[in-house]
Amino acid sequence: MIDNAAMTKLIFDIFDLESKRLESAELLSRFGEELRLIFGIDKVETKLVEKAGGVSPAEEYVVNTMKQMIDNRLSDYSSFKELVDSFKAGYKSCAIIPIVANSRCICVIRLLSKQEEKFEKNVANALQISSMIVGSQISLRIEQEKSISVAKYFDAAFNSIVPQFLIDTSGTVIKANKSMLVLFNSNARDLIGKNVKELFAIDANLIAGLRKGMVAETMIVGRKDRKFNISSSEVSEKILHITFYETTELREMEERAKLLKYSNYESLLMLGPKTNIIWASDNVDKIMRSQKNGILGRQLLDMVVDKERLIAGIGKLGSGVYTDSARINLGNGVLQDVRLSIFANEMYGLSCIVANNALESSFRSIERNFEEIVRLSGDAIIFVDQLGYVQRLNKTAENLFGYREQELVGGPATMLYSTKADQDSFAHYLGMAKQEGMVGSLFAVMKGRKPDSFIPCDIGIRSMLDQDGKLVGYVMVYRELLTKRELEEAQEALGENERLIEKLEEESELKTTFIYNISHDLKTPITNIKGFSTLLHNGTLGEINEEQRGYVKIIIDESDRLMELIKQILDVAKLSSGKIKLDLQPVDFRKLGENPSIKALEEVAAGKGVLFSWTVEYDVGEVSMDPNRIIQVFINLIGNALKFTEHGSISVHIFKKGKSIRVEVKDTGIGIGREDQRKLFRKFYQVNRKELTVQKDAGTGLGLSIVKEIVSLHNGRLGVNSEAGKGSTFWFTIPLNPKKKRPKEIKEQQVEEKKDQAA
Ligand code: ADP
Repeated sequence: MIDNAAMTKLIFDIFDLESKRLESAELLSRFGEELRLIFGIDKVETKLVEKAGGVSPAEEYVVNTMKQMIDNRLSDYSSFKELVDSFKAGYKSCAIIPIVANSRCICVIRLLSKQEEKFEKNVANALQISSMIVGSQISLRIEQEKSISVAKYFDAAFNSIVPQFLIDTSGTVIKANKSMLVLFNSNARDLIGKNVKELFAIDANLIAGLRKGMVAETMIVGRKDRKFNISSSEVSEKILHITFYETTELREMEERAKLLKYSNYESLLMLGPKTNIIWASDNVDKIMRSQKNGILGRQLLDMVVDKERLIAGIGKLGSGVYTDSARINLGNGVLQDVRLSIFANEMYGLSCIVANNALESSFRSIERNFEEIVRLSGDAIIFVDQLGYVQRLNKTAENLFGYREQELVGGPATMLYSTKADQDSFAHYLGMAKQEGMVGSLFAVMKGRKPDSFIPCDIGIRSMLDQDGKLVGYVMVYRELLTKRELEEAQEALGENERLIEKLEEESELKTTFIYNISHDLKTPITNIKGFSTLLHNGTLGEINEEQRGYVKIIIDESDRLMELIKQILDVAKLSSGKIKLDLQPVDFRKLGENPSIKALEEVAAGKGVLFSWTVEYDVGEVSMDPNRIIQVFINLIGNALKFTEHGSISVHIFKKGKSIRVEVKDTGIGIGREDQRKLFRKFYQVNRKELTVQKDAGTGLGLSIVKEIVSLHNGRLGVNSEAGKGSTFWFTIPLNPKKKRPKEIKEQQVEEKKDQAA
């Protein structure tokens, strides 16, 4: 119980909490503590949904539905394992409360009590009200914390090695980071207040363009050697944050290094003044059989076996490249043969490419593979020379443009571009690729051999260099873009299908409900028919003659058959609507074989002179299943086998296969033709058996659909192997680790069960 005084105290305490400047997590846990004290609850746990390393299934249910989940009588039977665990730990009632703000669940609180019925209506209401009040406050704190962390992130980004400015709309620098000061070799006082136009080659329209998200190329005023890409983002209406990425040497280095990360045969070192290794690409471990950390800081000169030769080589370097094989001492007597290519780089001193000789042959095979890849690639690939004349193309390119290779080779690639504008920019893009190594995501409408064949393409260009780093040409990769209309058509078709599926699902659900209700209604009259016929038959309602008694017996037998049929129909309808909850428990198949229903079938077999066996392989332990349902499966399968087997044997074989248990029920009966096998598991399907006498063997055609539903509820699979005249083997599997159901399914199941109880 909670009285008004306690409620008032709770609300006061919450407001008191709010006035303290607590962090969201702290505020939440204090609130939890408050609840614990006021309601006398045994255990309270609080969780911020976003920060927590994941919520449990029951909590996830609360997060998704934003409704309190109260279980006032915990037991062994909850759908959530965690609640069963709480019960085992001695708790009798549990409440999981969502804290909701801005239609989002931001935290959950879990309350456990050793008392039964702890969270009765009164308490639940009080919990709801107080959590609503505290919710808005926590949400506010979370937002504040987020903006603080964004600000911190911005500061960190701003202080990175990338040169950055904050400027106002006129282009005046408000703030510059350290890298920018280094770039201009200047101090903050000199830069702030200047206009970016004085510092970079920027034209007047650029700032407006930047505001719109444009990226442009620029240089420092008076210095043509360093190029930058400039981009911006808006901080506020008045302030722009602009970033300069250097596209010259450094950028090339980095790009190259990035590629090298994946290289299996070359790694890159940056050498300081005394050939000390100041940087190494990440793949160096692969190439040099040495940890990256182990070589950083060491001098390359000290590592090579023939030091003089390397000194002489570097001495003659100039602006060229010095390439030589060398033997490197990696320490502890480990020697490795490599090929070194050393060249000067303005920024760091020397760069050194280390190639592993032993890996070179595999490199050659990689090259051959590359040729193969180009040939087979789904993208159209064209090699052009420095001036853009076609040298080679792959099959896909031939198909895309409708030309044979020899028709295009020697001609300008521009002939494949449909507009004058695209033809004109072709050379420009080659220039870009030359400078940057590669450009991608270009768009152009191409034209093929057929007149009016317009092919919109996404294009990537990569420059090709020879061993000395001289440009030899470009690889052009064309990927055809689906036209907008085609895309729209595809999407429309998709939508249509979805609607159809929805409609079918709805219809099938309606049918199931209908059958379910009708069958349910039939049960009562039949019970009456049978009841009164039995009274008649026994003579309770007065004597009847033998002939009459015979007819009444038929009524009784037929009512029994009808009842059996209705029970089966109800069962299939129930099973396929998910109204049934499995009672899963660990079961030993050996014990299952001793079940009276199965023993009874064994006796029927013995009576017919058919051998019956039940074998469980030794490594099948206990398996989680609903034993009553699985027995139902066995009764159906063995029952069918008995019906259709006159000689020979029926054997049940149970064994482990992969991550499942597989059960096979094999008979030597009349078998099933191929065509029938496919339809066997459909509801009401029966194989036409001209050879069998009717009535007794008729069945309902529902047995196997029931089997199918039960096996699928266990997440297993079901099938049949059979040959007409030679017997059949029906098999099913039960996975050893069944997938857990998601909270949504559990919720649906609970709703269904409620409806069921109400019915
Ligand atoms: P029913 O209740 O009519 O037996 P089932 O769904 O159990 O319905 O079986 C469908 C059909 O599959 C049956 O009509 C029967 O002809 C065929 N069938 C099932 N099991 C066997 C078997 N072991 N051997 C031959 N035919 C079988």
